[in-house]
Amino acid sequence: MTTAYLYHEAFAWHDSGTAAPLLPSDPRAGLQPFQHLDSPDTKRRIHELVVVSGLADHLDRLPSDLASERQVLAVHDEAYLHRLRQASDGSGGDAGDGISPLGRGGFEILLRAAGGAVAVVSAVAEGRARNGYALVRPSGHHALANTGMGMAYLNNVAIAVTEVRARPGIGRVAVLDWDAHHGNGTQAIFAEDPSVLTISLHQDNVFPPGSGSIDERGQGAGLGSAINVPLPAGTGDGGYAYAMERVVVPALHRFGPDLIVVASGLDANAMDPLARQLLSSGGFRSLTKTLMQTAETLCSGRIAMIHEGGYAAGYVPFCGLAILEELASRTTVPDPYLGLVQGFGGQDLQPHQRAAVDRAAAAADL
Ligand SMILES: [Zn+2]
Repeated sequence: MTTAYLYHEAFAWHDSGTAAPLLPSDPRAGLQPFQHLDSPDTKRRIHELVVVSGLADHLDRLPSDLASERQVLAVHDEAYLHRLRQASDGSGGDAGDGISPLGRGGFEILLRAAGGAVAVVSAVAEGRARNGYALVRPSGHHALANTGMGMAYLNNVAIAVTEVRARPGIGRVAVLDWDAHHGNGTQAIFAEDPSVLTISLHQDNVFPPGSGSIDERGQGAGLGSAINVPLPAGTGDGGYAYAMERVVVPALHRFGPDLIVVASGLDANAMDPLARQLLSSGGFRSLTKTLMQTAETLCSGRIAMIHEGGYAAGYVPFCGLAILEELASRTTVPDPYLGLVQGFGGQDLQPHQRAAVDRAAAAADL
C-alpha cells in the first residue's frame, strides 16, 4: 500500500500581499510594506525537499482538482462563499479578520486546496492508499462556516471529512490538530456531532485569542467530542510525547475511529516566528510514529494528513519531510539541525507541562 501525496504549484500563487508581518502594510500606521508571514516559501520548500530528497519517487502523487461547490457548501454558508468570490473577482479583499488577505483570482486556489484535502482523505478512506499527506495552501483550520480568519479561508479538513463520511465504512472520524494554534474552526463545525472527535494540541492561548481551553468540550449531542490540550509556551518533544501518551492515544481508543485525519500545522517547530514551542523534526517524527501505531490497531492504519500552518521557511521543510518519511516508512536526507534543536534546554517533559496535560486529561475524563 502506498502513501498518497498531493501538491500543486498554484498553492504558492495564493497572494498574501505586502503585510508586515501580519497586518496589511499602511505607512500611516508605520507598517512598512514587506511580506506576509504566510508566504508561499514554507510550503513550496517542503515540496522541493520532498522531491530533491528522492522521497517523492516513493509517494503516490495524486492529481489535483478543485473542490465542487456542493462539497464546500456542505460546510460553509453560501453568503460567505459569495463574498470570497466577489473579492477574488474584484481587486481582492480579506476573508474576515483583517489578517487573511485574498488576492485577485485567489478563489480557485481556495477550491484547489479544499479539493486537495478531499482527494487525499478519499484515497485513504477508500483504501487506495495506506495513508497520505495533502500539502495544501492556504490553510483551513481556523475557518468557521460563515467567515475566514487567521489566514484560513475554507476549512479544508472539515470539507474533506464531511465528504468522506458519506462513504461506506467511514462512520466515525477523529481529527487530531497539532498546529501550534487552536483548531477552533474545525472544532466549531463539528461541535454538535458525536461521530467526529476533534482533538487540538496547541500553545495555550495564542490564536484565536482566548480560544481552546480545556472547558471547550463540544455541545449538545456532541458534548465530549471535542478535546483541547493547551500546552505551555516552550513545550518540546518530551511534552508533546506526553500529551500523545496521556490524552491523544487513550482518547482515540475510547472513540474508536474508522479514519484519523491530522490537521498538520508545523508551527510548533522550535524556529517558528508565529509560536513559541520547541518541537524538532524528530518530535514530529515521533508524533507520527505513535499515531501510526495507534491507527494500525484501531483503523487499519488509515491516516490522512492535511497541511495547516508553519512559517519558519528554513526549518519547516525538515519537519514535513520527517512526517512524510514516517508515513512512507523510508528515510532520505537527515535533518542537519536535529542535534542542535534537540539539544535546546527544556526539550524534556517539564513539571508544569505535565500538570497542564494532566488537567486536560482530567477535563476529558481520561
Ligand atoms: Zn498555526
